[in-house]
Amino acid sequence: MEILPYLLPVTNLGGSMEVKVDQSLCIGAGQCAAFAEGVFEQNENGIAYAVQSQVNQTRIDEIRLAVQLCPVTAISLVGADEE
Ligand code: SF4
Repeated sequence: MEILPYLLPVTNLGGSMEVKVDQSLCIGAGQCAAFAEGVFEQNENGIAYAVQSQVNQTRIDEIRLAVQLCPVTAISLVGADEE
């Protein structure tokens, strides 16, 4: 699948950020685990969770794509300049 560059925000967050999955919203579609492997995983019921809540800039593009592709907007990414 081609990743369209215009889907990716250009905000420079810097530092570490906190990623969360609202499991009450998750429908187990799996995009997050597919596009940010190792950041998100799915439990035995298909419900996603963040492997580590604190993430750094090195995975930010993948995580932002997962946020954008989640069909139920269950993923949130909180950085120091986004609160
Ligand atoms: S992309 Fe959204 S709905 Fe799909 S598994 Fe991840 S959090 Fe759940």
